[in-house]
Amino acid sequence: MRSLKRVGPSVAEKLARLNIFTIQDLLFHLPLRYQDRTRVVPIGSLRSGAEAVIEAEVLLTDIKYGRRRMLLSRIGDRTGFITLRFFHFNASQQQALSPGAKIRCFGEVRYSGQGLEMVHPEYELLKSDAIPVVNHSPAHLTPVYPATEGLRQFSLRALIDQLVLDSNTLQVDVPEWLPSSCLQHLKFPPLAQAIAFVHKPPPDAPVNELLSGQHRCQQRLAFEELLAHHLSMRRRRLRYQQHQAPVFNQECQLANQLQTRLPFALTGAQQRVYAEIRQDLRRSLPMLRLVQGDVGCGKTIVAALSVLHAVESGCQAAVMAPTELLADQHYRSFRQWLEPLGVRVQWLSGKLKGKARESVLTEIAGGSAQVVAGTHALFQDDVSFSRLGLIVVDEQHRFGVHQRLALRNKGKSTQASIELYPHQLIMTATPIPRTLAMTTYADLDCSIIDELPPGRRPVQTVVIDDKRRPQVIERVHGACKSGQQAYWVCTLIEESEVLQCQAAEDTARQLQEELPDIRIGLVHGRMKPVDKDTVMQEFKCGSLDMLVATTVIEVGVDVPNATLMIIENAERLGLSQLHQLRGRVGRGDQQSNCVLLYRMPLSQLARQRLAVMHDSNDGFVIAQRDLEIRGPGELLGTRQTGMEQFHIADLQRDQVMLPDVIKTASELLNLDPEHIDAIIQRWLGRNEEYGNV
Ligand code: ADP
Ligand code: MG
Repeated sequence: MRSLKRVGPSVAEKLARLNIFTIQDLLFHLPLRYQDRTRVVPIGSLRSGAEAVIEAEVLLTDIKYGRRRMLLSRIGDRTGFITLRFFHFNASQQQALSPGAKIRCFGEVRYSGQGLEMVHPEYELLKSDAIPVVNHSPAHLTPVYPATEGLRQFSLRALIDQLVLDSNTLQVDVPEWLPSSCLQHLKFPPLAQAIAFVHKPPPDAPVNELLSGQHRCQQRLAFEELLAHHLSMRRRRLRYQQHQAPVFNQECQLANQLQTRLPFALTGAQQRVYAEIRQDLRRSLPMLRLVQGDVGCGKTIVAALSVLHAVESGCQAAVMAPTELLADQHYRSFRQWLEPLGVRVQWLSGKLKGKARESVLTEIAGGSAQVVAGTHALFQDDVSFSRLGLIVVDEQHRFGVHQRLALRNKGKSTQASIELYPHQLIMTATPIPRTLAMTTYADLDCSIIDELPPGRRPVQTVVIDDKRRPQVIERVHGACKSGQQAYWVCTLIEESEVLQCQAAEDTARQLQEELPDIRIGLVHGRMKPVDKDTVMQEFKCGSLDMLVATTVIEVGVDVPNATLMIIENAERLGLSQLHQLRGRVGRGDQQSNCVLLYRMPLSQLARQRLAVMHDSNDGFVIAQRDLEIRGPGELLGTRQTGMEQFHIADLQRDQVMLPDVIKTASELLNLDPEHIDAIIQRWLGRNEEYGNV
């Protein structure tokens, strides 16, 4: 790296901030987008929003005084006029921009009320007509790189310039790792050419293709990047499965007992998935299984049965939920199911302090707590299990990949001098389309519960203007009077929890004033756990008719008697969140209803989302529509994918390549395992480290 010009210790330190440590890292620091500085555009053909170079003569320059002092310069060429606007300027600048001066500017064109303008363009004075214009213009589109404080575009370009000769040739070697069969099949250009091209596209490069990331050279690189991520997950899985796990009996007395005690029979889908899990648990390879299933399909009981296999074999099980509310609910469900069988269930959350915490920790360490439900507090440093055999992670979409990975080491135990790693069962109600699942969860086996318990009726959803709120309140009143229970969810776009809770408090008060004969409770994130808990229990046992809540109830909350869901400002929520919230009703055999209240004006996107919610109850359909409307980055949430550091790939745009990515990965794993490290290192660099578990 130091062999490059301009790289001293201070630049090196700044490069490190961009995760650039080697020449190869620098070469793979790819442009975010491009500017076209290769040609001078006539002012008459400028479009608002475009970035362009113009050359013109200054007609008038003046300071305008108003709310803010600014320098306005009116310039023109033979085809039209445009205004330059500067908020920061000095006298000599004003002087230089006097009428008659010829200048060249580069900037973003926008349309103001008075016509076209550029705000703070880059500009230079053209000294005389004698200098031919072409000498000034670069021969290729100008790349715009991810930059950092003190290391701006200009320096990055100068550094990368030392590595790239022209749009076809690099000054350094980069080894090609893709099998030639793959390159041929996909008609990809060689790696070196692809890199050279994206750093220095030639002047005649198809600008629109490049701007939208669809040029073959960009696709070639995106493919390899997707491949690198996919490989890193597959390898992570292989590594984990080199470990040993405790072996559980396939037949489990406790689980059989629990099944006979249940007031319902498992659905076919639950039985199938439970059988798949049992198969995993009897092997000495650690299970890595994801159970996908729409809200309300009954994942919890499947988890409870699996947990009993660990318990019966003398191991502990940990059940981790993303919120206090859900952890607490699991604690109750598991106690209700397991304690009659003589199994000791405990609870641990971040809120548990002092003596109470100590005593739970002692139980966990001693092994007398056979099942522990909790939040991610379960995996803090001071928690140590005696013999953890199974980890259940519920509502996985709320945890990051990193957290999921961090758990794996936690449960390590040693038995007869063999290190044993826990089995893992991961549950999610956020269904994602198959190919996406195969890349995102490439390290997991997948089971799907694709059936709801019998007797469930689809929730009827109506979409109503907030102006008709009084009628909605009237309807809720009637429903509650006739013995139904309702959720009233308050949402606020602000991220501020304080404001959200405030809004819920206000709504609860208002509703109570309007409906004095209805018993209304309130839960939100800032209440003490005990208070939250009391209210939830009151709602669950029917001594409250209505629960006003923030979106804390979004995940997992299960009160089968509740049949009415009102969501305020529904236009502000995403599809998966709306689906999750709506999934709180329709859990019993009674007809449930959902009212989505919206406020005008509605954006196009919001309109589409509300229509999807109205038309479908099926999580997979909704996820597919969500993918079409928003794209997978948001669908998955970057936290979840662990793919936030994509340089050039875009899951939405590039999803057509995924089947080939998967195929190529398998080929490499079989034939060229020695290249795998190199590919991963090239694209993930040091980010890969967290995966080495
Ligand atoms: P989710 O998959 O959304 O986590 P839960 O596990 O909370 O769903 O289950 C939803 C509700 O359905 C719970 O009240 C649960 O007891 C009930 N349930 C689960 N399986 C069945 C079944 N086979 N028959 C009837 N009810 C069931
Ligand atoms: Mg659940």
